[in-house]
Amino acid sequence: MHLSRFPRVKLCHAPTPLEKMSNLSKKLGGPTLWIKRDDCTGIATGGNKVRKLEFLMGEALAQGATHVVTQGAVQSNHVRQTAAVAMMLGLKCTALLEQRVQTNDPDYLEGGNVLMDHLMGIDIEYRPAGTDMNAAMAEVAARLTVAGETPYVIPGGGSNPVGALGYAAVALELVNQANEMGLRIDRIVHATGSAGTQAGLVAGLVMINARIPVLGIGTRRAREAQEQAVFDLANATTKLMGGPAVPREAVEANCDYVGAGYGIPTDSMAEAVMLLARTEAIFLDPVYSGKGMAGLIDLIRRKSFAAEENIVFLHTGGQVGLFGYSDFLNRAAA
Ligand SMILES: *Cc1c(COP(=O)(O)O)cnc(C)c1O
Repeated sequence: MHLSRFPRVKLCHAPTPLEKMSNLSKKLGGPTLWIKRDDCTGIATGGNKVRKLEFLMGEALAQGATHVVTQGAVQSNHVRQTAAVAMMLGLKCTALLEQRVQTNDPDYLEGGNVLMDHLMGIDIEYRPAGTDMNAAMAEVAARLTVAGETPYVIPGGGSNPVGALGYAAVALELVNQANEMGLRIDRIVHATGSAGTQAGLVAGLVMINARIPVLGIGTRRAREAQEQAVFDLANATTKLMGGPAVPREAVEANCDYVGAGYGIPTDSMAEAVMLLARTEAIFLDPVYSGKGMAGLIDLIRRKSFAAEENIVFLHTGGQVGLFGYSDFLNRAAA
């Protein structure tokens, strides 16, 4: 795997730390839990999207882009990180925010990620839930082209083969760290959404033949659709790198912890957020990593993993989103 063949802008504070969670492991009494701190990628409070943006922005600059267009939910971490990277590189940014979560909560509508988007001064346009967001971005891009700009359109979550290269790079980074530490990784667990993180990780692990299983905990779609999305994108990513096909068995998602839907808080998410805060002083987010960790905790309680295992939880960031859900979380913490 030779990633220097692809245009890339180095943005992340990397390698991000790989740390043992001794207190949490003890508390749960199961496998030894480790955490890969991709909440600490360093740009505008960090998160997993900056990994993908290194390659996406590499391509944008190579194409002479002047204006980045992307989309997400109202409390999108991806939009916040894309906006930040656009600011750093001197590009303009338009974000389409889909009103995917039905709420009048002012914290959700104006706090957290939205506050940071406003402070960075990007152009924001809202679209109702269920809008064809790819078509909406194409319309905006056409409008910008007429106005003399060179737009670069980034899909939701930065999840296409170019973006997924960012997580192929993380596969290499993580395995190198583990080799250095003498740590045998038996499994990687993380929250999966638009699929680029898991697809890139799986693609990278296949490329380097690491033979480490990855379990994605779903945050939106049902299992079959989520696994198909990850599988298709993982294959497109190894293909882009000139590598082998990804075996279907390498893609596994558990979508039992989504709750009522995307971005709708669950009690098990709140429990996971508080447990991590109270054992490790690590903050998860309410939409992704909180639900991902809720899944991991439940599976440990159900004895799904051997006690000898070393499990790495990939923290994908998003803590800023906590401030979009303060009502729910304050009630849970009371
Ligand atoms: C986007 C996001 C994810 C999901 O990553 P995908 O690549 O979209 O599957 C997980 N956690 C956080 C905090 C995110 O912002």
